[in-house]
This record gives sequence, structure tokens and C-alpha cells, in this order.
Amino acid sequence: MITTINPATGEPIAEYETLDENGIDSKLEAATRAYRDWRRSPVQDRIDLLTRLGDLYESRSEELAVLAVTEMGKPITQARGEVKKCASLFHHFAKVGPAMLESEFWDLSDGGRAEGRWLPQGPVLAVMPWNFPYWQVVRFLAPTILAGNVGVLKHASLVQGVAHKIEELVLEAGGPEGLFQNLCVPSDPIGDVIADPRIVAATLTGSEGAGSAVAQQAGKHLKKVVLELGGSDPFIVMPSADIDQAVEDAVFARIQNNGQSCICGKRTIVHRDIHDAFAEKFIAALKDVKLGDPMEDDTQLGPLSSEGQRDTVLEQIENARQEGCTLLFGGEKLDRDGAWMTAGLLTDVPLASETGTDEIFGPVGQLYKADDIEEAITIANAIPFGLGSAVWTNDDDEREIFADRIEAGMTTFNAVNGSKIEAPFGGIKKSGFGRELSHHGLHEFMNLKTLVYP
Ligand code: NDP
Repeated sequence: MITTINPATGEPIAEYETLDENGIDSKLEAATRAYRDWRRSPVQDRIDLLTRLGDLYESRSEELAVLAVTEMGKPITQARGEVKKCASLFHHFAKVGPAMLESEFWDLSDGGRAEGRWLPQGPVLAVMPWNFPYWQVVRFLAPTILAGNVGVLKHASLVQGVAHKIEELVLEAGGPEGLFQNLCVPSDPIGDVIADPRIVAATLTGSEGAGSAVAQQAGKHLKKVVLELGGSDPFIVMPSADIDQAVEDAVFARIQNNGQSCICGKRTIVHRDIHDAFAEKFIAALKDVKLGDPMEDDTQLGPLSSEGQRDTVLEQIENARQEGCTLLFGGEKLDRDGAWMTAGLLTDVPLASETGTDEIFGPVGQLYKADDIEEAITIANAIPFGLGSAVWTNDDDEREIFADRIEAGMTTFNAVNGSKIEAPFGGIKKSGFGRELSHHGLHEFMNLKTLVYP
């Protein structure tokens, strides 16, 4: 059994029976059967299903948002935003999807013509985390439906209620049996699922450890894998920036999703000319964050997703102290049931330390001072990750330098960095490889078949 727990209270919510070997086998059989028909389905049927799913996520948004808050503790306003973003993604793929499936053509030097046609490949396994329990899955599900593939989900144990709900909604929207199934299992049997010949590829969003385990198994069985792993994004503020707006967004970047977003400003790097003025406002705003019941509309910071996750962050703070970092304030466990801690801020972080190079998945920021643009870039790149980044500057030349030299899959200027439904998303270095969203994400698990005509 998997028991889900409300991290705001520490109380159990529900129990879910896990699948045994036979249970997994029958799900994979159902996926194979569904694929035989779905791969031949008219594109209009796929578009219609995406549209109905988008409509369902819109009409059921409150119920879905409440379920996510109960299972992983994010503030309700952000849970509503996540569900709305899922609805928008379904509608977006419904609108632009057919164009993404169009063939490409080439004239050949021998007088013939070649066509590149996008064909589906089969059942794909998605291993997903708890932090954006709908969005991470829908980012996989919408292109899977459009491609003519089918999906099998291994969702994080913490959010099994959401996992079951996502499957239920696909059926309710008229998706055929087996098109999208939740495998209610811990991570142990996942190696065998990847090895199973009925699974053609795998995608994972989560930690480096889980990503490495999945990639090794996929590599052993010569299956394609897309990985979206952690990050410790830089949030750089240069003198030409609007300081007040940058402060507001730096705080939101660090505490959004209770500090548990792979892509958000975790290391705030400020140019020395404005450092002290920025720091004063940043510290005051972080101290002022409203911590409370995640079901309340005005709550900015709820509990972490589990007591285990909270304790990991507390251990990282203790380790930071031992590495010579200064904890300016906060970062403390609250004496109440549930996975609670306060927001905090570290300074004096040595670049090559564990604290400087690890991802802290909780509401504890790091503040750095940079002498000039060169030092800002050096600090930004001094981590093994390369997921996202945000840069605050109104100087066009500086923008170009940052665009070229920050080692990341994404840089956002003068705003909080986050995935956009229309644009590709993914990382470099230890943040993973491959892309999600846009036609780049859609095509990751499709076969670009070359047809040659004389
Ligand atoms: P994990 O990476 O362990 O979990 C993500 C998913 O992978 C879950 O479905 C999990 O299942 C599964 N999983 C874990 N290990 C394996 C494995 N060996 N083989 C196959 N599947 C596996 O994240 P955690 O919840 O443990 O969080 C740990 C850290 O990971 C965080 O502190 C954070 O740094 C990072 N993280 C990053 C995320 C991101 O968005 N980039 C999201 C979540 C975490 P199960 O839940 O059953 O263990």
C-alpha cells in the first residue's frame, strides 16, 4: 500500500493498493492494445480529445487544485495556476498540433523527392515528481496524445491521488482504455518496466539519482530517454534593473511552490553597485513572507511536500554552516505537526562548496555579490546544473552577453523564469537532456520516417 499524507497536518489522507507483477503486466498489455488503434486514429480525434481535456481541467479546476494542495502542500492560488496552465497546454496543442505533425520535403539531387513523416512509436513510460503534480504529467500527456503514442505513468508516491485523478480525467474526456494509465507502484519495479519490450522509451523529471538510474536502464536496453532534472538557477540583478520589481520577483522565485521548483532563482547574484540597496529590501521582503495554511488565498508559503523533504533542507542548512556560510535569518523547523519550516537566506557561500553547488529544494535562498558582469557570469556558471536562469538588466549589450554565456537551457529577462506552454523547455549539464513542449518536445518520442520517391 502507498499511504498519502497531508504535509500541512501530518495526517494520512488515503491508501492506494500497489500493483504486483501481474497487475503491471496487464497494464502494459492494455497499453499495447490501445496503441494499435490510437496510432491509426485520425488527427482530428486526437485534437478533439485534447480540447475536451482542456475543458475538463478548466471546469474542474477547484477540485483538482484542492487535491494537489492536500497531497503536497503548495499554496492554493498556485495550485489553481498550475491547473489552468495544464488546461492552456491541452488547448494549445489542440490548436497548433496539426501543423507540428506536417511532413517535411526535400528535393533530391538524383531527381527524386524525400518526405520526412512523423509517426508514433508506442507506449512511453513517464516517471514524474510531486512538485507540480499535474503540470509535469500534462507536459508529457498532451504531446503523447497528439503524437499517437500512449503513456504509462509512474508518479511520485506522495501524489497518488493526483495520479489516479489524471488517469480518470483522460477516460472521462473520452480517451480509450489503455491510452494513459497510472502504475501505482514504488520505484523498485521501474527498472523491469523500462526493460520490458512493450515500452519503447522513457522520460523522467526528478532528482539526479532517479534520472541516472532510469537513464542507465534505458541505455542498457537501447531505449531513448528524456531527462528533466534539478537546477540551482541564477537570478542576476544588474544596475540598470528596476530594483523594486527585481526584489519582488526574486522573493517569489525563491518561495514559489514552497521553494520546491526545479526552475527558479535559487542563487540571487547582485552587482556590487546596487547590492546593499537590493539586499536590504530583499531581506525585509523575505522575512515578511506570509507563512500559513496552504488552503488560504493569501498564503505565500505553506509546508514542504513531506517531513523527509523538510529534514533534508534542514540538514543542508546545517551543512552550510559547517562550510562557513552565514544563515542571515530563518531556515528553521516550526514546532507543529506537518512539514513546516520558515524561509531563510544564506550568504558567504563558497563557490566550490556543497552548498554552492547543490540544489536546495526548499525556501532558503543564497545571496551573492558580483563585482562586474564577468564575475556574475562566473558565479552563475559555477554549478553542475544548467536548467534555467533569470537576468535583470535594461542594457541591450549586457543581454546579448548573458544570452550567449550563461550555461542553461533557458534565460528569462526581467521576469521570473518559468516554462512557457508555447516554447521548448529543458536543461543542459546535470539538469538533463532532451526537450519538452513545442514541436521539439512532441518529436522527441516520434519516428521521423524518411520516405524516398523516385
Ligand atoms: P525523486 O527524483 O526521487 O522522485 C521523482 C520520481 O522518480 C518519483 O516518481 C520517484 O518515485 C521516482 N524514482 C525515484 N528513484 C527512482 C529510481 N531509482 N528508479 C525509478 N524511479 C525513481 O525525487 P524526491 O522526491 O526523492 O526528491 C529528492 C530531490 O530531487 C529533491 O530534493 C530535489 O532536489 C529533486 N527533485 C527535483 C525535481 C525537479 O522538478 N527537477 C522534482 C522533485 C525532486 P517515488 O516517489 O516512489 O520514490
